[in-house]
This record gives sequence, C-alpha cells and structure tokens, in this order.
Amino acid sequence: MIVGHGIDAQVISRVVNVVQRRPNFVDVILTPAERAVYNNRKGKHQQEFLAGRFSIKEAYSKAIGTGIGSQAHWQDIEVLPNEAGQPIMVKHPKQGEFNVHISISHTGDMVQSSVILETYKTTLTGFNQLDVTDQAVVSTRRPAWVEVSASAIQHNITAIRHLTGVKRFIAIVKANAYGHGLTQVVLAAQQANVDGFGVATIDEAIWLREFGVDLPIFILGVTPAVYADDLVKYQLIPVVTSEAWLDELIDNMPKTQQLPVSIGVDTGMGRIGIRQEDELVRVVDKITAHKQLSLKGIGMHFATADEKDTTYYQQQLQNWHQLVDNLQLPSDVWYHMANSATTLWHEQPTLDTVRVGAAMYGFNPSGDVLATDKLIPALSLKASLVHVKEVAAGTSVSYGATYTTDQTEWIGTLPIGYADGYARQLQGMYGLLADGRRVEIIGRIAMDQLMVRLPEALPVGTVVTLIGQVGQEKITLEMLASRLGTIPYEVATSLAPRLPRKLVK
Ligand SMILES: *Cc1c(COP(=O)(O)O)cnc(C)c1O
Repeated sequence: MIVGHGIDAQVISRVVNVVQRRPNFVDVILTPAERAVYNNRKGKHQQEFLAGRFSIKEAYSKAIGTGIGSQAHWQDIEVLPNEAGQPIMVKHPKQGEFNVHISISHTGDMVQSSVILETYKTTLTGFNQLDVTDQAVVSTRRPAWVEVSASAIQHNITAIRHLTGVKRFIAIVKANAYGHGLTQVVLAAQQANVDGFGVATIDEAIWLREFGVDLPIFILGVTPAVYADDLVKYQLIPVVTSEAWLDELIDNMPKTQQLPVSIGVDTGMGRIGIRQEDELVRVVDKITAHKQLSLKGIGMHFATADEKDTTYYQQQLQNWHQLVDNLQLPSDVWYHMANSATTLWHEQPTLDTVRVGAAMYGFNPSGDVLATDKLIPALSLKASLVHVKEVAAGTSVSYGATYTTDQTEWIGTLPIGYADGYARQLQGMYGLLADGRRVEIIGRIAMDQLMVRLPEALPVGTVVTLIGQVGQEKITLEMLASRLGTIPYEVATSLAPRLPRKLVK
C-alpha cells in the first residue's frame, strides 16, 4: 500500500548560484559520503548531483508529510549510487517502516524527483517490485566494519611504480575492490594518480563511470557483445578474446560512435584470449580497418608469477613474443602484462603498463611462498563488543555447546559472523584489543555473531581488531588464508557487502 508520495523540482542553476554565494551550503545538504561522490564528479555532473540530492531530500520530506525541519534534517537522509550507478536511499528517518522508491531525472536546467513510500507488505507479494527489493542491505548501524587506509593504498601504488619503473598503472578494483570497498579504494587510487582502472564485469565498469571516474576503464572478463550499446555509451574498454566475439561486437555496435578495445592474448593462462597467431593478425586487421574501433591495449596474464619455479613463466613470456612481436600495432597502444606477482618478483616484461590488484591492497599475492617487504596492508576488520558477561565454570557457549568454561570467565559478543565473510572455520582464531592483548574466539562462529574470551571485565563498545595491526601485533589476510587453506584474495573478497567500509587516513 502506498502511504506517502512527494515530488519536487529544482532549477539547477539556482542551486549552483546558492553554492557560489555560500560554499558551505554543499555540506549543509550533503552527508560526508554524498560529499565524497560529489567531489569526485566534475562540472555539469557535479551540479546535477547536488541539485538532485537537494530535490530528492525535499521530495522525501514531503512524502513523510513534514517537510525539511525537526522531523527530517538534510543530514538524516542519504542517497548514494548503487553498483549499477542508480541512486538508492541508504539512510532516512522512516527506514525500517516503509519501502522507499525514488526517482531523480534531469531535463535541461531542471531536476525532478519523486518519492513513494509503501508499506512492506505489498512489496512482499508484488513481484513487479523485485528490481527495488533486489538491493543488498548495508548495515550502517551495526558496530562491525571494514577500514581501508588511503595512505597504505597510495604508498603501495608508489612502491610498485618505483620498483618497476613502468609508465602506467592500472588499478584493479574488481569484486568490490577485492572486498575492500569500491568507493573507498577508487577515491584513494585516484589521489595516487593511477592511469586507469580494471574491473571484471561491465556492471562494475558502469558503476565507476556513474561514480564520476573519467580514466580509461578496462573490463577484464568477457562482455556479452549484446551490451555493445552500453560499452559505447560509457566508453568502456572490453577485451577482445576471439575473432568470433569481435564479429559479434561489430554486428551489435551502434553505427556512429567510437569504441576503444583491448586484445587479450592467451599465452598459457588457459582462461580467455587468443592463442593462434593467424587469428590474432586477423583481429588486429579488423580492428584497424574498422572506423569506429580503436586499439587501446593488448595484454596477457601470467599463471605462475607467484611461484619460485619460473619455467612456466618464461614459457608464457616466450609465447607472447612469438605471437605479438611481429604485429602491426598503433604506437600509442597500452601493453599490459604484469599482475602484482610479476611486478614484485620478475624483471618487467614491459615498461609500459601494469595491472595491479593484490599489491595495491598491500597483501602478498603468493600467500607465503615468496616474500616482500614493500607493501602496507590497507584493510582492517573491526567490531566492538555488544554484550559482556561473567559466567561460572561449566558454562557452554554457542551452537553445539562445543566450548565449556572450566573456570569463571568473562565472555564478550561481537556482532560479526560467517555471513560477513568471517569464516566459520576460524573458530579458535583470535582478535586484538587496543593494547595488543589477544582475545580468543570461543565456541562456534554464528551467522552474525561470535564470542571471545576476555581477560577481564571490558565495557560494551570495546573495539576488537579481527584483521589489522595494533601496535606490534598484527593479524593479516595471509594468516587467515593459511588457516583456512586458501589464498588472501579469497579471504578479502569474502567480506560481505553488508559490512560498511570506512576510508581512513
Ligand atoms: C585480477 C587480475 C589482475 C590483478 O591481479 P593481482 O594478482 O591482484 O595483481 C590482473 N589482470 C587480470 C586479467 C586479472 O584478472
């Protein structure tokens, strides 16, 4: 059932004029997270964003029937782009009471917004609402969170640049920036003047464009050619992985606009890309001959750059030279071959461009096979105690009653569990208190909560670090990975979207 409807329209130039007279108006209207998105946009897009947020907040306050004032402040309402770049309301006074549907549209100098409030019941039975209810819930009010250090990311980018001496750095931010938080990492990486971004899917790429990124964006995975319209519209760089795919792209291309592409060469990764010289030559010729296509890049991916034995690595490099050296390529093509492990432990196969993920985040791409001391981990996982109790000897804790105290103990509960990506098999691991003391995780890790044994009565609100450094003590992604029999990449990308990400210095 619809319980509220608010509409509002604003003249964009009028909002802009107010900002010129009163620059702090921006911070009156926008929350800090919205401000970060705003800062990242330029010119017209920035103005539209501000006017849009102004208008939607007015519309919301009308929908709840109060107007902006004591019931709804500007700062109580937060609207951010989701992964597809669409605005979604992530914070508002009636959260939890109603479903909120919003729309913001621009025509000329006008921005128009509408808000519909609806009781939850209708939505549960109305399948046409699925596109709205599909959004993942980010739990911004739960004391468990990921911190991402901007200075660590910037240090790591600089370190890799120095170590390799390459001309260009493509920051790989697929899978929510390896679980670190896409918004936060993109802001930090842009400040370090990276030259481009790499993502896995077209939706991730569109998100970056909508967020305001105007650097080249490489899509590393295969994009279904039926999405040629979006590739062109957002000027994204798909990877050409076969002649058949290129033909399909050409068939689907809108007939007037340009599109940059990058060729993927399979020299032994065995995943995607062109393996035969004759096919490669035909693909280069077709791209060169096609008026709307331009060849922006050519790359390959190493399968074993993180291993001690370099035989297979050398074999791949040799295959590359055989396949690519005789091609006629434009002089401004980006050659991109090195992943993190290649930048850290090999002579650079090209001094042109690197594609780096793990090393930028500061974890070791080889786990613990090869060593590096050049990187600073950017990620911390923290939660604060929500419940503390003293229990007698013989008390059992958590599912299965697998842990029983043998003396009087202080037990704390943290609001984080395996659904957040803190794996169930980490039972017996520990967290760190602010003074570096360890608190062991006891009993089974539940979906949303876990228990720790405290050295003494500690207040609710005490912060426990589950990943990160506290003084001389640290818990790394590599440590958790080796406990879980996996690689740090998987531990980081398992951190669920419902954990809020905070960008810290
Ligand atoms: C993920 C990925 C990278 C980045 O790898 P790291 O080991 O994290 O540096 C580079 N290139 C391609 C094709 C990838 O899929």
